[in-house]
Amino acid sequence: MINIILFGAPGSGKGTQSDKIAKKFELVKISTGDILRECLNDATNPLYSTIKEKYDKGQLVSDDIINQMIVNYIDSSKNNNGYIFDGFPRNIAQGEFLQDYLQKSHNKVDKAILMDIDAGVLIDRIVNRFTCNNCGAIYNSKTKKPTIDNVCDICVGTNFKRRSDDNEETVKKRLTEYKNLTESLINFYEKQGLLITVDANREVDVVTQDLYDIISHI
Ligand code: ADP
Repeated sequence: MINIILFGAPGSGKGTQSDKIAKKFELVKISTGDILRECLNDATNPLYSTIKEKYDKGQLVSDDIINQMIVNYIDSSKNNNGYIFDGFPRNIAQGEFLQDYLQKSHNKVDKAILMDIDAGVLIDRIVNRFTCNNCGAIYNSKTKKPTIDNVCDICVGTNFKRRSDDNEETVKKRLTEYKNLTESLINFYEKQGLLITVDANREVDVVTQDLYDIISHI
């Protein structure tokens, strides 16, 4: 079993790359952002308002809620190949929790891969981002529009959506949370010899190739 963490600033490409990695290496992808968005689609969820309050402000949801989500997800997926974690852990307490939890089943984190990106490009990347409602393909209204306006290149779907937290004010807060909390994981994983840094400023496919090479050598 291999367990890989992909972390980096909002907009660094974690979601895109972790989907590709999960497919290629037959890993289960665990994205805490996706799990939270699913909860936010259901106003009857008991955690709805607690999550929404933090999510819409770009602040981290509490460790208790997030750690429990991870436990539930792993328990229900039971995959022997392993997991790719996208957006978790996001602070040292979550990092320690994950290690303790994996250790209980004699597993461990194999690599923590930092998607390193210049802060300057991020806000633009995120506020112009939208996705196909049907297949999840990601577009950008400045740099990567669908070939035919309002028609998805992949599935010809015609419904698109934007994330509620992809507005400039919330993105700024998410970047601050990243700097204040998540960046401390760089040191945390470096000390344990688990850190690998990838230059995420490059084309998607070039970054993917680097990630495949790293993971094939674990
Ligand atoms: P991004 O990395 O682009 O900010 P995510 O989808 O990973 O996007 O996260 C969106 C929001 O979900 C975060 O701003 C935060 O409110 C919440 N969130 C996601 N993962 C975590 C986590 N591990 N701990 C706390 N909050 C989280």
